[in-house]
Amino acid sequence: MNRKIIKAAELIKNADKITVLTGAGISVESGIPDFRSKGGLWEKYDPFVYAHIDSFHRDPYRVWEMLKEMNQILNGKKPNYAHIALKQLEDKGKEVVIITQNIDSLHSLAGSSIVYEYHGVWDKLICVKCGKRDEIKNFPLNRIPHCEKCNFPYKPEVVFFGEPIDPYIMSVSNEAAKNCDVFMVIGTSAQVYPAAYLPNVAFNANIPIIEINLEETPLTSSLNTIHLKGKASEIMKLLMEHLD
Ligand code: NAD
Repeated sequence: MNRKIIKAAELIKNADKITVLTGAGISVESGIPDFRSKGGLWEKYDPFVYAHIDSFHRDPYRVWEMLKEMNQILNGKKPNYAHIALKQLEDKGKEVVIITQNIDSLHSLAGSSIVYEYHGVWDKLICVKCGKRDEIKNFPLNRIPHCEKCNFPYKPEVVFFGEPIDPYIMSVSNEAAKNCDVFMVIGTSAQVYPAAYLPNVAFNANIPIIEINLEETPLTSSLNTIHLKGKASEIMKLLMEHLD
């Protein structure tokens, strides 16, 4: 392990540009469990029903049963050391581009300056009828936020199943994946496409890939990643110590 940490730290130290793909695992230590594991949100609510855009149009109140629980999970959470360390890499003069599949806004809260929110964000709201926007913080936690104009429930600006990824975000993320000196993948099972394809873009551009996860993923052997097994915050701490 130590050998791999040293190798990864060397790559980071020598890099000017670092692109990082993050997933639910980086926020677990902030108290946001991943939705897929036992007891997670998707055990109770089938995401293809409750997180599908057609369901929202058909019956937004049913979808909001799940969204209210999601709101309770995400509300008030703070970045953990792994989010903060990525911002500290910027402070060391690196250009750090973060592509996150998370909807929790924790990278922005940690102060990172370039964050591409691939699946959107939870805390911004949009009316699917008139396009009016608002923020979840302006509404009480236990009530379904409604557009004042249309009296229709707001939709969080999260990419639901059946909705496209913002083409601009896709394009800049692709560019960042192939124009960096090292590509990091933190806390993602790499199963949700097209985000899961980004490490392949880096691999095809001959960029070394560092992967931080509690377990191996399909990327580990197929892309020959430097796999650092452990909790994101603990591994980032080891890496940062080796940089100094
Ligand atoms: P996933 O749930 O499929 O995989 C999580 C990965 O993180 C797993 O491989 C797991 O081994 C690893 N992991 C768990 N705890 C970890 C830790 N402490 N340190 C390092 N790794 C850890 O997550 P995904 O790949 O991001 O895909 C799920 C989708 O669900 C995403 O698109 C995301 O939008 C959404 N989601 C978001 C949040 C959030 O915003 N925080 C939370 C849950 C799910």
